[in-house]
Amino acid sequence: MYSTEKLKAELNNEQFQAVTSTEGYVRVIAGAGSGKTRALTSRYAYIIGALGISSSNILCVTFTNKAAREMRIRVKKLIGGNSDLGYITTYHGFCVRILREDINKISYPKNFIIMDVEDQKTVLRDIYRELGITSKELTFKQVLRFISRQKTQLHYLEYILDSKKNKSKDKIDKIFIRYLEKQQRNFALDFDDLINFTLYILAKYPDTLLKWQKRLHYILVDETQDSSDKQFKLVELLSRFHKNLFVVGDPDQTIYEWRGAKPEILVNFDKTYPDSKTIVMNQNYRSTPNILSLGNHIIKNNKIRVAKDMFTQNPEGVEVIHFHAQNDNEEGLWVATEIKKLVYEDNCKYSDFAILYRANYISRNIEQSFIRENIPYSVFGGIRFFERKEIKDVLAYLRLIEFEDDFSFLRVVNVPSRGLGKRFIQNVAEIAEKDNVSLYQALKTNVSRKGLNRKGAIEFIELIESKRKIKDSISVSDLIKEIMDESGLSGYYRLDGDTDRLENVKELQNSIITQENNTEENFTLTEYLQEIALYTDMDIDDNRNDRVKLMTIHTSKGLEFPHVFLCGFTEGILPSAMSIKERGKKAIEEERRLTYVAITRAEKAFYMTDSEGFNFSTGSNKYPSRFLFEISDNFFVRKGKLSQDIIDEAKKKFQLELNGLPKPKSFKLKDLVHHPIWGYGKVIEINLDREEYLIDFEKTGKTKPINFYFRGLSSAKD
Ligand code: ATP
Ligand code: MG
Repeated sequence: MYSTEKLKAELNNEQFQAVTSTEGYVRVIAGAGSGKTRALTSRYAYIIGALGISSSNILCVTFTNKAAREMRIRVKKLIGGNSDLGYITTYHGFCVRILREDINKISYPKNFIIMDVEDQKTVLRDIYRELGITSKELTFKQVLRFISRQKTQLHYLEYILDSKKNKSKDKIDKIFIRYLEKQQRNFALDFDDLINFTLYILAKYPDTLLKWQKRLHYILVDETQDSSDKQFKLVELLSRFHKNLFVVGDPDQTIYEWRGAKPEILVNFDKTYPDSKTIVMNQNYRSTPNILSLGNHIIKNNKIRVAKDMFTQNPEGVEVIHFHAQNDNEEGLWVATEIKKLVYEDNCKYSDFAILYRANYISRNIEQSFIRENIPYSVFGGIRFFERKEIKDVLAYLRLIEFEDDFSFLRVVNVPSRGLGKRFIQNVAEIAEKDNVSLYQALKTNVSRKGLNRKGAIEFIELIESKRKIKDSISVSDLIKEIMDESGLSGYYRLDGDTDRLENVKELQNSIITQENNTEENFTLTEYLQEIALYTDMDIDDNRNDRVKLMTIHTSKGLEFPHVFLCGFTEGILPSAMSIKERGKKAIEEERRLTYVAITRAEKAFYMTDSEGFNFSTGSNKYPSRFLFEISDNFFVRKGKLSQDIIDEAKKKFQLELNGLPKPKSFKLKDLVHHPIWGYGKVIEINLDREEYLIDFEKTGKTKPINFYFRGLSSAKD
C-alpha cells in the first residue's frame, strides 16, 4: 500500500514535489544521477497508489526497451499486483500499440509487419536485382539514408495510401518508389513509418485521437532531451485533453541530435507552456565527488548550454585514472588486469564493471584481451546479437509461420539448402506477382505443379504448415527447438563447423525460456515477434550472469555501474572522425556530451584509456582525445607512458583542426591533374565517402587514391 512517509524517506524535497505535483504541465531539468528517473518512477507509482488511477490510463515513455523493462520491474516492486504495464514503453513501442488497435482505419491489417534494417536490406537487394542496379552505383547505406530523409515529411504516405503513382527517372527515386510498393504489398512498416502512420491516423481521424486523448490521463516522458519533434508532437497531442504532461531530462545529455533530437523542446518548455512548473534538482546521488567534478569540468567547455550546479554528498572515493598505452594490445591488457585485480583483491563482481566505447569496433580489442585473460563478458546491444545470421534465420522461420511475409520466405526457403535456386524462386515470384499473393502462398498453392513440385519445396511447405497448426498450443521456445531439428538447421550449423552459431541459437532459446518462466501469462508467438522486432542497436537485456558488460556510450544512457572504463578515448574515435571533419562546433559539442554521459555512468570509479598506433578506420596516427587536454591534470591521475612528444604532436594537430583544414580541391571526373611525385594523371573516380579522388597516373601506369585536401594536387592546365 502507498505511504507518504515512505515516499518522503526515499526522496528529497524536489523529487517529492516532482512526484506529487501530478496535475498540469511539469518539467524536471537536472543533471546526471540526480534521481530524475527515480522521481519519474515514483510518480508513476504515486498516481496509481495515491490517486487510484489505473495503469491503463498512464503513458510512460522511456528511451530504450531496456529502460522500459527496468521501469516495469521498479514499478512492480513499488505497486505490486498484476497491473498491465504495457504503456510503460518507448515511442516506437507506443506507436505499435496505437497501430495494432487503429491501423485498420487506413485499411491496413492489424498484424502488419515491422521491418528492421536487415529486412530493409533484403528488400533493397531484390530491387537492385529487378532494376539492374549494383551496389557500386549506390550503397545500401546511401539508399537507406535517402529513404529515411524522404520519410521526414509525410508526403510519401499519400503515395502509399492513396496510390498516387509518380514515375521518376532518377535512380534513387525509382528505388524509393519500388521500396514503397513492396512495403505496401507486404503491409510492412519500417521504423520511420511507425511514428508517421500514427501521426497520420491521429491527424486524420479526430475520433481516434479523442479516444486516445481521453484514455491517457497522465503522460510521463523520460530522457526528453532526446525526443524528436515528431515524437514530442505525439505526446503533446495526446496530452491536450487532460493536460497532464510530465517531462524530465538533462540537456547536457543530448546524444541523438544527429538523429533529430531537439533538446530545445525541453529547454523552452516553460515558454511553450507558460503555466507549467519547473523543478530543478542539483544533488547527485550516483557518483563520487571526483567523478562528478571530472564530468562537470568537461561539459563546461560546451558553449551551447544552460549552466548547472551539481553537488554530491557521496564519500570521496578513489581517484579517476587515465591510462595511456603504447598500443591497443597493452590497452586491452591493462583493462583486463585492472578488473581482475579488483575482483580478486577487492571482492568486486565482474558485473560491477562496464566498458564503454564510442564506436562498436573498439570492442574487438577489449574482447580479445578478455578472452585471453578469461574474463567473462557480454556485449550489450540488441542488434549485434539479433543480426547474427543464425538468429535471423530462426526468427525468419518464426515470422514466416506467423506472417507469411516475403522477406522471411526469401531468407529461409533455401536455408538449409533444399535445391531451390534462383530460377525456382523466380518462378514462384512470377506467380505471386500475377496472382497478387505472397510468395509463400504462391508456392503453397502451386507446389504440385510441374516445375515447382520439387521434393525440397514440398517438405518445406509441409514443415511450415505443420508448425502453423501447433504454434498456439506450444511455447515459443519449444517451437524453436522443433524448427531447429526438423528444418535441418541444427545439422546445417553443425556442418558449418561453427559452434558459435548453435550456441547463439541456444542463447536465444534460453532467453525465451527465462522470459517464459518470468511471466505468469504465456506470451504468444505474435507478441514475441513484436517485441523482438522492436529491439534496436541499443538494448538487449543480458545481465543474468556475473559478467563484465561491453557497450557503446549511446547504449549506456540512463544506466549506472560501480566501475566504468571509457576505452578508446582517442582523437578520431571520441570525438569521432566524422564530427571533426564537420568542423562545426555543434558536432564536437555532441561528442563532448557523449563523454559526459560516459563519465556520469560511474558510481565508484572511472577510468579512461587510449593507446598509440595507427587507426585504420581514420587513416592516421592515434593521439589521446582532445577532451583530455581541455581539463586540468588535477582531475585525474595519469598512468602509462605518455611522452611530451606525443602531447606536443597531439596539440599541434588539434590546433590545425581548430584553424580549419585547407580547402578541399574540387576536380571533376576525367579532369587532368598534376601530382608533385607521380606527375600527370586523370581523375577516374570520386569517392565522396572517403573524400578521395582515384587517379590514374600516366608515368607509372598505376592508380592511386588522393585525398581531397592534399595541397600538392593541381590542375594540369595551370
Ligand atoms: P540520468 O541522468 O543518468 O538518467 P537520473 O537523474 O535519472 O540519471 P537516477 O537513475 O534516477 O538518476 O538516480 C541515480 C541514482 O541515485 C540511482 O541509483 C538512484 O537510486 C539514486 N537516488 C536517486 N534519488 C535518491 C535519493 N533521494 N536518495 C538516495 N538515492 C537516490
Ligand atoms: Mg535517468
